[in-house]
Amino acid sequence: MIDLRSDTITKPTKEMREAMFLAEVGDDVYGEDPTIIKLEETAAKILGKEAALFVTSGTQGNQIAVLTHCRQGDEIILDEDSHIVFYEGGAISAFAGVQPRTIKSENGMLDPKKLEEAIRTNDIHFPDTTLICLENTHNRSGGAVIPPSHMKKLFDVATEKKIPIHLDGARLFNSAVALNLPLTEFTQYTTTVQICLSKGLGAPVGSILAGPKEFIEKARKWRKRLGGGLRQVGILGAAGFVALTEMVDRLAIDHENAKILADGLDKHPLISVINKVETNIVLIDITKTGKRSDKFIEALKQIGILAVPFGPKTIRFTTHYDVSKENIKETVNKVLNLK
Ligand SMILES: *Cc1c(COP(=O)(O)O)cnc(C)c1O
Repeated sequence: MIDLRSDTITKPTKEMREAMFLAEVGDDVYGEDPTIIKLEETAAKILGKEAALFVTSGTQGNQIAVLTHCRQGDEIILDEDSHIVFYEGGAISAFAGVQPRTIKSENGMLDPKKLEEAIRTNDIHFPDTTLICLENTHNRSGGAVIPPSHMKKLFDVATEKKIPIHLDGARLFNSAVALNLPLTEFTQYTTTVQICLSKGLGAPVGSILAGPKEFIEKARKWRKRLGGGLRQVGILGAAGFVALTEMVDRLAIDHENAKILADGLDKHPLISVINKVETNIVLIDITKTGKRSDKFIEALKQIGILAVPFGPKTIRFTTHYDVSKENIKETVNKVLNLK
């Protein structure tokens, strides 16, 4: 099987397993795990923030951010197709008790004017707008990159209104590699940021939430409340450290493979690639095949390819380090021969 369902399926590398085996550990709830301390300090530096926190998943990182920034009854502004709205089980309502105010974005890019208009004024009828969330790369747009220049425009609006910005940067490293920029070029325009170690970077578990020192102290308490205070977690953090320090540059290979895949699939008369393919995700529209996504996925499986449905007529392929260029070429050949 060539597994293109997600970059989350990547297995830990040999270096990660060795680092896990040798990791120095302590009780992280007591703040005594040296491997986690090193990981958090390194992550904070890379992200240009005062402090960072290792969390169990991207979802947990985003939810802790919302819980820490907001109070029940607050309103948060985000793109209607954002991961936080689309894929986190309604958690912002279930846990933080906030109300989402969604805006339609253009490939993940919120219009600064629409953003400004959505921010509530001081009126007894209105909820308080206490957070703006962005996503980079933008998953539902097929891994679209939001350039720092655009993030700055949104940050200027937010700063003017004194509202923090949280960036869901599950795949922010893909944006950084695509534009060949340091992470700080993006994160300078956010108050807090979440990045996944367990997607393209290949760690088995974990995300980082980073931001101001005071924010991270409060976030640490929310993590504990949610049951995310872990003990000798340096075992996991050791793999995360390898992910953060050794696995970033190679994302360029995934991007190259995604382009090869897109160019190949687009040659099929009944398939069209519908995203710009800036990073490691390819979205295809299969309307002309007359099949629905579930049936198409089934047909792909028959020829040894795994992908995920992304809509009734849309399929997503994601490249990652466990698929080679040869696997990609094989995928293209097999799909082109698909009736
Ligand atoms: C994967 C992803 C998350 C959540 O990460 P998990 O570790 O799967 O909880 C959040 N945001 C975006 C944009 C993602 O792609």
